[in-house]
Amino acid sequence: MTRADGPPTSTGPAPAGPPTAPIDPTALPVAPTSAVWGRLRRAFREHGPLLLAVVVLYALATASALVAPWMLGMIVDAVREGAAPARVDVMALLIVASLLVNAALLLGAVSQSIRFGEGLLAELREEFVRAVLRLPLGTVERAGTGDLVSRTGRDINSLSVMVRRSVPVIATGLTTVLVILAALVVLHPALLLACVPSTLLIWVTTRWYARRAADGYLAEMGTYSRLTQGVSDTVEGAHTLEALGRQEWQDLRTDADVRRAFAAERYTLWLRCVWYPPLEFSYLIVTAATFLVAGLLFTQGELSLGQIATAVFLTVQMSKPLDHMIDQVDNVMVGFTALRRLLGVRFAAEDTLPGTEPDPEPHRPGTVAIRDVRFGYTPDVEVLHGVDLDLRPGERLAMVGPSGAGKSTLGKLLAGVHLPGSGSVRVGGVDLAALSPEERRERVILLSQESHVFRGTIAENLALALDEQDTERTRLWHALAAVDADAWVRSLPDGLDTRVGSGQVALDPAHVQQLALARVVLADPQVVVLDEATSLIDPRSARHLEHSLAGVLSGRTVVAIAHRLYTAHDADRVAVVEHGGVAKLGTHEELLDRGGSYARLWHAWHGDA
Ligand code: ADP
Repeated sequence: MTRADGPPTSTGPAPAGPPTAPIDPTALPVAPTSAVWGRLRRAFREHGPLLLAVVVLYALATASALVAPWMLGMIVDAVREGAAPARVDVMALLIVASLLVNAALLLGAVSQSIRFGEGLLAELREEFVRAVLRLPLGTVERAGTGDLVSRTGRDINSLSVMVRRSVPVIATGLTTVLVILAALVVLHPALLLACVPSTLLIWVTTRWYARRAADGYLAEMGTYSRLTQGVSDTVEGAHTLEALGRQEWQDLRTDADVRRAFAAERYTLWLRCVWYPPLEFSYLIVTAATFLVAGLLFTQGELSLGQIATAVFLTVQMSKPLDHMIDQVDNVMVGFTALRRLLGVRFAAEDTLPGTEPDPEPHRPGTVAIRDVRFGYTPDVEVLHGVDLDLRPGERLAMVGPSGAGKSTLGKLLAGVHLPGSGSVRVGGVDLAALSPEERRERVILLSQESHVFRGTIAENLALALDEQDTERTRLWHALAAVDADAWVRSLPDGLDTRVGSGQVALDPAHVQQLALARVVLADPQVVVLDEATSLIDPRSARHLEHSLAGVLSGRTVVAIAHRLYTAHDADRVAVVEHGGVAKLGTHEELLDRGGSYARLWHAWHGDA
């Protein structure tokens, strides 16, 4: 009916190949299926007794549900044999009692499976959040926030549906089918023959579906990530797009993303459309085949008429759980794929370069050695072309140079946000590539222009930089004083306990930057990279702040990407970055004496050119 191969189309009758969107090479990784099975096995091991209770309760519930068809068969035989009405009444009462027991057992089974499901879901969520928080910034930058947002929202939701709805339904369904099959064997083992054609049909079609669905759903979710990224770019860059008159261009890009998502959804829908009809057919066949086999057994005198009725009731009863299970397979495939994407974030969080060993040579904390570093955001465009730079512990270096020269990129490499394509960045003698993202952050902190205030008190916002939350107040005040922020914090209604963040006391951007700087003082890393970290503070206060910060950070190595040249004037040395390399290096005076670009820049900025 449809082609098995060929390019997918969004308008043709049958999208027969995996969807069009190429899997984005910069996207966050996806865990292999073996990792998902491994995680699920661990869950089963850790929650073994609870899971066993769920299975046993479901099995008992199913067994109690079989009393009704069994009794109905016996009632048929009893009536045919002209048995006393009292016997029939007892059987009818047994049916009512079995239904009540069934309801009670089901209640227990469902509540226990909810306990199991919610517990597992909470664990997976916590693991995911931990992995997200450990993600190297460079990985998030490369992948784009859309991928992460899509995994955090849509994928977690798909996983919840699988754990909350599909797993209990499938557990009940499977137990029911197994118990019914056992009951058929008890009636007469030959009745199992009636299930053979349906089992074959289900096996063949499900294999066909499962082989294609895994890739289909993975690609489908990839298109959602891309779509989310596009939408967030549109919202964040709305002003830029409007200013450049590029709205239509962005519309077209979004349309293309929507078309890709549509084609991907259509492909998985098509797979289900091909797969469902044979399944529906399979449980009709089983009833017909039971009639046939049971009829044959009746003619051989192996089964009574009542037992035939029971066998048919049983097979009819099997169709409902099968139907429910099949309804859930789609959710399970989506949930399983979502779990692969969620566990994949853990792989990205453990991003250290293989083959790089920590340097055994002891070095003083705060020493920085950058050796022949080359780096590009994409493989074809190199941004840094072999940078060498050495910093002494406690040295203050200002980086200046034209926009786009590579200053921020060098700052990010120094902070371990990105790892160099070749060459090495060593801090305190240790190659950053050999450290985990946490270890890198302990050594070097990069503070950029964008800082965030979290909803909570000022004290809580400051304590973010520390492991312990109940930090001594004097330490917090000391950090605030170091960044000239103690006066305005004291003037707030509740001082350190003033609630800030969205919906609370609003802080102006300069104060937000000061809080971010105070966090650096508290975190006390070996090296601090300030990328325009004081740009929002007015020039006079900023200079004062940089002086007081220098006092507190003395002994710490500070690299300041300078947009105001007095930062360069005050620094121990200045690096002039041009065309992806350090063009000049020296003290402010040396560089002025040498003339050239720095001297021109200084005189132009200072107004004495
Ligand atoms: P500077 O800080 O000196 O202004 P940057 O380090 O920001 O320079 O940029 C150096 C070069 O790298 C520029 O050509 C810029 O376009 C490019 N670049 C910067 N960030 C990215 C990024 N995230 N992806 C791709 N290219 C980038």
